[in-house]
Amino acid sequence: MRITADTKVCVSAGMCVLTAPEVFDQSNEDGLVTVLLPEPPEELREEVAEAVRLCPSRALDIS
Ligand code: SF4
Repeated sequence: MRITADTKVCVSAGMCVLTAPEVFDQSNEDGLVTVLLPEPPEELREEVAEAVRLCPSRALDIS
């Protein structure tokens, strides 16, 4: 599993961080998403998929 985030469309809503805090963080400066674990372990798949679903700007992609 690989996760990518498009900071050009991220609106700093923070849903991803609330949903999967092991995988996502937000910049202290502008609140934009940062990916802590670009290749999260399989056991995190469900919460990562939920974070992708919940992102209001569809900035996250899972493959
Ligand atoms: S949920 Fe989406 S818009 Fe919000 S911080 Fe995460 S990536 Fe950005």
